Amino acid sequence: MEQLAIFGGTPVRKVPIGYGKQYIDEDDVAAVVETLKYGDLTCGPKIEALEKKLCDVTGAKYAVAVSNGTAALHLAALAAGFGEGDEVIVSPITFAASANCILYAGAKPVFADINEQTYNMDPKEVEKLITPKTKGIVAVDFAGQSVDHDGLGEICRKHKLILIEDAAHAIGTRYKGKPVGSIADMTCFSFHPVKTVTSGEGGAITTNDENLYRRLIRLRTHGITRKREEMVHPSDAPWYNEQVEIGYNYRLTDIQAALLISQLKKLPLFAARRRAIVEQYNRAFSDMPEIIVQKEIPESDTVRHLYILRLNLEKLSCNRREFFDALHEENIYSQVHYLPVYFHSYYEKLGYTKGLCPNAEQYYQEVMSLPLYYALTDEDVQSVVKAVKKIVAHYSQR
Ligand SMILES: *Cc1c(COP(=O)(O)O)cnc(C)c1O
Repeated sequence: MEQLAIFGGTPVRKVPIGYGKQYIDEDDVAAVVETLKYGDLTCGPKIEALEKKLCDVTGAKYAVAVSNGTAALHLAALAAGFGEGDEVIVSPITFAASANCILYAGAKPVFADINEQTYNMDPKEVEKLITPKTKGIVAVDFAGQSVDHDGLGEICRKHKLILIEDAAHAIGTRYKGKPVGSIADMTCFSFHPVKTVTSGEGGAITTNDENLYRRLIRLRTHGITRKREEMVHPSDAPWYNEQVEIGYNYRLTDIQAALLISQLKKLPLFAARRRAIVEQYNRAFSDMPEIIVQKEIPESDTVRHLYILRLNLEKLSCNRREFFDALHEENIYSQVHYLPVYFHSYYEKLGYTKGLCPNAEQYYQEVMSLPLYYALTDEDVQSVVKAVKKIVAHYSQR
């Protein structure tokens, strides 16, 4: 048997690769340079153009560009009216920001377990957690796969809840043909470099509701308005604007917007490549009993952000840590998405305890993310497959 690099063998890859990476071409560079040379740097026409482009991509009526995905979630939680005494249901298998936004608003995150095959929050688990205090849901399109909008939508209608979709992983994904961004009350995106398209830092909220839109616009700039009808003391003075609530400076710059507009033009290309890579991985792993392939629901036409390698530990003589380390020694630098949010010591201090979401906790013991990004070549993908198969062969109980 081939020796694992961890035990002194030759690594499958000479040059290390990570799990995600941005792709910037000359058009992106030119767009940024043009804005720097001739454009406004902030509050300029690139922001409007970007928001229009985001509406085109998502099919939403309104888009609000903000400084990052976390700011998008924060403003969405405020616009939803979450506050003291409210409970908001959220998935534990996500980046902490999905739950933190509920805390920012003064409400209480309540974690609903995931479906053990799709890794998205299970509507049946959500339903069990509804109380008279429940005000909304923050649903995460984990790894890019759409949440169960039919299931969650029904719960929201029945209990009059607001649905915020954290689509940081899911730009370009469709649910029953409708683009993510046009379905939930508000959908939040992130444009961090590891995501499918990037502006360095950046985020956005999309909505079809004009009132939510107006509120988001105002909160993005300090709670200050120039609209007479929103003022307590309307004035004709041309300089007059009025702060009517407490808001933030969560604006994106035009430099970033120019980059993102250019990136969004490549979204179909990025999406196609990501799909092709996912297919290659799925083909390689689907008949291996040691590996569990993420289930794809037929309603979701997914632009995958992450490829989750899940180990069937009953068929392997190693644990996730040993597998992760072996992959690292083969020069494939993986990452784990995610630690259940309530495992963080901050959440522990708030009183959350282990055992809350058994599917999520088991999932966490068994996973790591494989390289998935536009610039990955077929050769790269084959080397990752080769490394995984080499490690599996070493530890297999077959
Ligand atoms: C990246 C991410 C965020 C936060 O976005 P930032 O732009 O980094 O603030 C929120 N939720 C999820 C699921 C993410 O992956």
